[in-house]
Amino acid sequence: MDCKNIEDILIFYALNEISGAEKEEVQKHLNKCETCNSIYNNLKADLNIIDEEKVTVINENFTANIMSEIENISSEKMKKNNIIKMFQPLAAAAGIILILTIGILTGNMIAADSTQNITNTENEIYYFNDLQQENAEFFLLNE
Ligand SMILES: [Zn+2]
Repeated sequence: MDCKNIEDILIFYALNEISGAEKEEVQKHLNKCETCNSIYNNLKADLNIIDEEKVTVINENFTANIMSEIENISSEKMKKNNIIKMFQPLAAAAGIILILTIGILTGNMIAADSTQNITNTENEIYYFNDLQQENAEFFLLNE
């Protein structure tokens, strides 16, 4: 191979897109031909710059994509967490209200029982047994 042939395939050699036999030919030529060697070095330097730019561009996009994805995921999580955090006190408050209501009702019933306020007790029991009036009537008959 002469210099002209080498120059033609030097780019493929630099890109490592060349057959093994051709690669050896180019390597041999570069070892003995300073002109082609310097062309190759310049070519390789240019390719490295292009590669670096390519890598940088890819990295920038990649990083930006990853970052925005992370932001999306974390903001989604934040939303979910916020909703859970918003509902946790509500659930706790509802639980407390429920306990207090049961406590007050139970307390009222005990108070009604202890003061023998039969009318109130009957009314309350009738109210609680609204859907089971037979029980209420049964209770009233027993009285
Ligand atoms: Zn040469």
